[in-house]
Amino acid sequence: MRVVVAGAGIGGLSAALSLHAAGIDATVIDSAASLRPLGVGINLMPHAVRELTELGLGDALEATGIPTAEMAHFDRHGNRIWGFASGRNIGYRWPQYSIHRGELQMILLAAVRARLGPDAVRAGTAFTGFSESASQVAVRVRDRSSGVTSVLRADVLVGADGLYSGVRAQLHPGEPPPRWGGIMMWRGVVEGAPFLTGRTVAVAGANAALKFVAYPISRQAERRGRALINWVAEVMLPASHLDGADWDRTGRVEDVLPWFADWKFGWLDVPALITGAPRILEYPMVDRDPLPSWGTGRVTLLGDAAHPMYPIGANGGSQAVVDARVLAWSLARAATPAEGLAGYEAARLGGVNAIVLACRDMPADRLLQMVSTRAPDGFDRIEDVLSAAELATFDQAYQATTLPDVAALNSRPSLTP
Ligand SMILES: Cc1cc2nc3c(=O)[nH]c(=O)nc-3n(C[C@H](O)[C@H](O)[C@H](O)COP(=O)(O)OP(=O)(O)OC[C@H]3O[C@@H](n4cnc5c(N)ncnc54)[C@H](O)[C@@H]3O)c2cc1C
Repeated sequence: MRVVVAGAGIGGLSAALSLHAAGIDATVIDSAASLRPLGVGINLMPHAVRELTELGLGDALEATGIPTAEMAHFDRHGNRIWGFASGRNIGYRWPQYSIHRGELQMILLAAVRARLGPDAVRAGTAFTGFSESASQVAVRVRDRSSGVTSVLRADVLVGADGLYSGVRAQLHPGEPPPRWGGIMMWRGVVEGAPFLTGRTVAVAGANAALKFVAYPISRQAERRGRALINWVAEVMLPASHLDGADWDRTGRVEDVLPWFADWKFGWLDVPALITGAPRILEYPMVDRDPLPSWGTGRVTLLGDAAHPMYPIGANGGSQAVVDARVLAWSLARAATPAEGLAGYEAARLGGVNAIVLACRDMPADRLLQMVSTRAPDGFDRIEDVLSAAELATFDQAYQATTLPDVAALNSRPSLTP
């Protein structure tokens, strides 16, 4: 079986590695002229770390990422509301990693080239369309530098081409543009002093107004006694026009700093993080409505192409990795490509669509907003602000957007065919 994967992001490269491990031949195309380590930090949850570890990348992740110790919420004054231990600290057999997205992509790319061959990933090659027959799928591509178009013939086409997926557009014509809920995110990376446990994902404020997220993403910096701090500043803007969403768009310090100018917590100096970042990126928090089906016959979708979601549960990259493994597992066991893709979709679509909707619903944010309404000037004891029952609902909120059951993940059989 031969598979063409459109898109060499986290999902597409994970798919190539998973297919190869299942004995299936894969070629990956990407429209970017060259694959560079773009982006800032992301979190890889234990369910994704398990899959990448079983693909033989555990040591590479450990050398680069920070094994996240806890996720902790604070009010906009830096008072701790609630915390949730992460990864191995709550019994998962695999850690959660906070890691640079570009470094993760380069780890995956190097592994694909080493295992599948130097030509397995073709940059500068854009997907432009497909046509399907009973025996194959013909994938039309355009070489970006020469403009020459050609056709790749395969048994299966996987659209892992992200938020603006061309494969999705052909499968589901007439979809509206990505949906924006009004939150703008500015993101940056800056070296600084370690804070809290040194491995904490800290979330301050609430999305209904202003929110600031900070976490360290580099093991190398940690070994030097420093922290490479990834930050995300989120601002709910009054209804305004959304001018597209581009992961690599440069933002301006003057657009974000005024909102957070007095956010100095003692343990974290937010204005210093904002002004210290060599480059600020600007990205609106967008998703798309869940699809009732992803593909038909020999064509399917994976990762953001299938289910773009708000980064509320730190789950976009992780779900793409799990998609990739289930796809390969299902194709390897099926009698025909169509049966394999149907099995993949049946295993993944319902659960991941529920995560998209849970992220949009932002259940934890309602509690954070409650704290800011009841105690706008801060508090000494969170028990004076939220009842025990309200505090307990944090766990449920986190579970809905982020984490599978510990015992279920630990005991599930491997997806290696
Ligand atoms: C440049 C970039 C930077 C990012 N930075 C961050 C970040 O800092 N934090 C974060 O949380 N998330 C970031 N993301 C998104 C994050 O990687 C995804 O949400 C998640 O990892 C799922 O990955 P994916 O592989 O499904 O999609 P993506 O990572 O978006 O990858 C899609 C790939 O498809 C390629 N592609 C698009 N159109 C075509 C086409 N017509 N033909 C061939 N290839 C095509 C793109 O070049 C890209 O490499 C970024 C994505 C990109 C593309």
